[in-house]
Amino acid sequence: MKVAICGAGITGLALAHRLAALDVEVVVLERAAGPRQQGYMIDFFGPGFDAVEEMGLLPQVEEAAYQVDEASLLDEHGRRRAAIDYVQFAKSVRGRLCSIMRPDLERVLRTGLPSTVDVRFGAGVTGVEDLGDRVRVTLADGETLEADLLVGADGIHSTVRRLVFGEESRFLRHLGFHTAAFVFEDEEIRAQVGERFCLTDTVGMQMGFYGLRDGKLAAFAVHRTTDPALPDDTRAALRATYGSLGWAVPKALDLCPPPGEVYYDQVAQIEMSSWSRGRVVLVGDSCYAVSLLAGQGASLGIAGAFVLAEQLTRAPSIETALAEYERLVRPVVTEKQQVARRGARWFLPANRFLLLARRAFLHVARLPGLERPLAAAVTGKSTALVTNLKRGAEIRSR
Ligand SMILES: Cc1cc2nc3c(=O)[nH]c(=O)nc-3n(C[C@H](O)[C@H](O)[C@H](O)COP(=O)(O)OP(=O)(O)OC[C@H]3O[C@@H](n4cnc5c(N)ncnc54)[C@H](O)[C@@H]3O)c2cc1C
Repeated sequence: MKVAICGAGITGLALAHRLAALDVEVVVLERAAGPRQQGYMIDFFGPGFDAVEEMGLLPQVEEAAYQVDEASLLDEHGRRRAAIDYVQFAKSVRGRLCSIMRPDLERVLRTGLPSTVDVRFGAGVTGVEDLGDRVRVTLADGETLEADLLVGADGIHSTVRRLVFGEESRFLRHLGFHTAAFVFEDEEIRAQVGERFCLTDTVGMQMGFYGLRDGKLAAFAVHRTTDPALPDDTRAALRATYGSLGWAVPKALDLCPPPGEVYYDQVAQIEMSSWSRGRVVLVGDSCYAVSLLAGQGASLGIAGAFVLAEQLTRAPSIETALAEYERLVRPVVTEKQQVARRGARWFLPANRFLLLARRAFLHVARLPGLERPLAAAVTGKSTALVTNLKRGAEIRSR
C-alpha cells in the first residue's frame, strides 16, 4: 500500500511515523518551504501522549519539553491574582503531561522518521482526482503522483477538505475569539516569568508568556470578537487590540516580530458528517479541530493518526479501516468539542463579574482533593483510546 499524506504538521508526521513502522510506503507533501520555526506552547497529555509512548518517542518529547510549574494570572501591575497549579494538574493525569513548543514536537516526530519516508517540503497539494481504487494528487508545480490513499492532514484550513468535501464555511464553526502567538526576547520579562506561564487576568482579552530556553519567551494572545475575518497586518492588529493591557504587554508588543513570524487565526472547530470519501480521508484539525479551548488538538491529532495507521494495517480493506478509524475517534473528539464550547465563558471572561467568579473558582480548586474534578471540568473525560487499541480491545473481528 502507498499512502500520500498532505501536511507535515504534528498529525501528518505522526501518521507517517506510525505507517512507516508498520511497513507502509509513505510520501509526505508539505506546502511550506521547510520545517516550521515559530510556534506556541502546547500542553501535551491525553491519548496523543499514550500514542507517542507507543511509538517509542516519549523520551525525545520529554527531553524537548519545558517545565511549567503554574499558570499565574496577573493584574496590570504584575501582581498574582489567581493561579492554576500545573503540578497538581499533572498529578490528576498521573504525571502524563508535558509542555512542548509546537515546532519542537514536530521536530521530534520528523527526526524520528525512518529514511524510507519521503518528506517533501515546498510540495503544496492543489488537485485531487478520484481514480476508483487509487487517487491522483497534483502539486503546485504541476507534478502528479498516485497513491492507494490520500490523507489530508493539512490543518484547520485544509485544501484536501475543500477539494474533496466542499467549502470551508460548511464545516467551520467560529467560536468568537481570535488568537495569536509569537516568540521574542527580553531578559527582564524572562526573569519575571521563570518557570511559570504568566498571563494577564483581564476581561475580553488576555496575553500570556512562557519562558523558553536561550532567554526567549513565547507570547500567547486571545481576544473575543464576533468577526471571523483576519487582519492583513497581524502585528499592527495585536498592538491595536492588546495595547491597553498593563504589566509586560506593551514591551512585548514593541518586541513583536514582523507579521510573517506571527501566528494569527480565528479560534474555531471543524465538524463534518463524514471524514472520508473514496480513497481520501482526513485526520487531525482538518476534520475535527477541537480548538485551543479544548487544549488537546495536537494530542487528538496524534491519537487519530495512530488509530488510522493501526486500522489501515489491520483491517481487511481500506474502506473498513476508514470506517473503523472514524467509529473509534469520533466520540472522543465530539466530547472534547462540547467541553471546549461549554468552557468558553470561563476560558476568557466577557465581563468583570465572570472574571471575579473565575478567580474565586480557581482559589477553591486549589483545595486538596479538588484537582481531579477541576481537571475533568477543563479537559473532559479521559480516554484509553490508544491503549485499548494496542491491547486489541477495540478491534472488531475481521
Ligand atoms: C494558540 C494555540 C494553542 C494550542 N494549544 C494546544 C495545547 O495546549 N495542546 C494541544 O494538544 N493542542 C493545542 N493546540 C492545537 C494544536 O496546535 C493543533 O490542533 C495541531 O497543531 C493540529 O495539527 P495538524 O497537524 O492536524 O494541523 P497543522 O498543525 O495545521 O498542520 C497542517 C500542515 O499542513 C500543511 N498544509 C496546509 N495546506 C497544505 C497543502 N495544500 N499542501 C501541503 N501541505 C499543506 C501546513 O503547512 C501544515 O504544516 C493549540 C492551538 C493554538 C492555535
